[in-house]
Amino acid sequence: MKKKLVFLTTLLFLFAMTMEAQNSIPEVTEVHEPVPPVIDPGVGTAPPSDAIVLFDGTDLSMWKGRDGDSAPWDVDNGAMTVVPGSGDIHTKDGFGDIQLHLEWRTPEVIKGEGQGRGNSGVFFMGRYEIQVLDSYDNPTYPNGMAASVYKQHIPLVNACRKPGEWQTYDIIFMAPRFNEQGRVTYPARVTVIHNGVVVQNNIEIWGDTKYRGLPTYSKHEDKLPLRLQDHGDLVSFRNIWVREL
Ligand code: MG
Repeated sequence: MKKKLVFLTTLLFLFAMTMEAQNSIPEVTEVHEPVPPVIDPGVGTAPPSDAIVLFDGTDLSMWKGRDGDSAPWDVDNGAMTVVPGSGDIHTKDGFGDIQLHLEWRTPEVIKGEGQGRGNSGVFFMGRYEIQVLDSYDNPTYPNGMAASVYKQHIPLVNACRKPGEWQTYDIIFMAPRFNEQGRVTYPARVTVIHNGVVVQNNIEIWGDTKYRGLPTYSKHEDKLPLRLQDHGDLVSFRNIWVREL
């Protein structure tokens, strides 16, 4: 009995010594694969070298209109501007998990109030809206203000610049996953950085953006076009690029 105890204690001691020895070798915890691909990050808000440029200020060749025809918005001075009544525009390509950079500007001349002032929106997968709105000194329901997940999540702060000034969105969007039965197994998630400030921190999206009623999920493709909203206001966009994640 005593012999057995000594044997077990020795074994335990040796095991502890081996673990200790392993912990003291720094190379043990080094991981050598995969080696990340080298990219050029670009300067400032310039697209990184692995980005898909959706609008560089020259044309709308990456976009289409509501009927699948060419996108009918104005392009002038390096920016595209909503042509009220012409309808939303969509990217020709579909996207799932992405990092998006986009710059937007609401009209300098203030017209309307609340939801009626500088309203547009960025719809991921054509369904999940991050609101674009002139929320500078323009009260509305906070889950419908700029940088809200429309009718779902209020931004952490109001980081809006004045109307007429360019503003940035850097958004990380993770697409929802569905099972065979069409039920959502992994809801969409989003992080929104507005003018360099985190305003949505990896929050869960509850479902399709709805103006009336509660959001719901319905199964859809893994990749779908990005959509920009014509809400009847002269909102402009520039420097739009995405990176697939
Ligand atoms: Mg909107």
